[in-house]
Amino acid sequence: MIKIIIGAHLSVSNGFYHMGVQARDIGANTFQFFTRNPRGSKAKDLDLDDINKMNVFLKENNFGRVLAHAPYTLNPASSDDRIRGFALEVMADDISRLENIPDALYNLHPGSHVKQGVDVGIELIIQALNQVIKEEQSTLVLLETMAGKGTEIGGKFQELARIIDGINHKDKIGVCLDTCHIYDGSYDIINNLDGVLEEFDSIIGLDRLKAIHLNDSKNPYGSKKDRHEKIGEGTLGLNTFKSIINHPKLRHLPFFLETPNEIEGYREEISLLRSLYKK
Ligand code: FE
Ligand code: FE
Ligand code: ZN
Repeated sequence: MIKIIIGAHLSVSNGFYHMGVQARDIGANTFQFFTRNPRGSKAKDLDLDDINKMNVFLKENNFGRVLAHAPYTLNPASSDDRIRGFALEVMADDISRLENIPDALYNLHPGSHVKQGVDVGIELIIQALNQVIKEEQSTLVLLETMAGKGTEIGGKFQELARIIDGINHKDKIGVCLDTCHIYDGSYDIINNLDGVLEEFDSIIGLDRLKAIHLNDSKNPYGSKKDRHEKIGEGTLGLNTFKSIINHPKLRHLPFFLETPNEIEGYREEISLLRSLYKK
């Protein structure tokens, strides 16, 4: 029997083991967390006992792979050496720390080219990733599909495909699809989910798709805005999520909620989505 793998974005501030227990308590069997605060400051020293306790707990409770999200302020595509250097330092440090969590996924926003143009931005991202991704790591690095706000790279499947094409260790790279982002970025997953997935498959390859961010959107199709809404309360609507979680090409993937909720709201959304998942 296939079980839905679903979780929400949680905070690591009370430790890793605590986060695992909190996930289970809201009916989740995976979760996402920020590797450090979104401003990207120095991460706390790792408490390996705490992490190992979490690892045992996750295994005992049949959790899916957990997703670590990089600070969204990193910009490996910046023209400023200091900003790019900082992004490299944080990514390398995150990847080495994540080796303590078996088979973790590490999600990145690719970056913004600012005024340099998409081609230069993509080249800088490729260079950065090739510096931090190591052949021996167990963590899989995921590029997130973006809304294409401002000069953000990754709002088109082609841009992610070009980045992946330049990566040396291709077995360490995948994609995380964010439903709010791609709808805001002009992929019509309400009326043409099959077509969007076919497009993804022909440009990137569905075998690269390793996680889904489940978010409704506050804005209309093609708005390029990136404002998340609660499941069923935005422009995507509940039926779209029902189709996504049950889609034969998606239903085996881990789903992560990044909706504007406190913990109780996440509990309700998880139970709602579980009830819509076909056995
Ligand atoms: Fe993100
Ligand atoms: Fe996301
Ligand atoms: Zn977003």
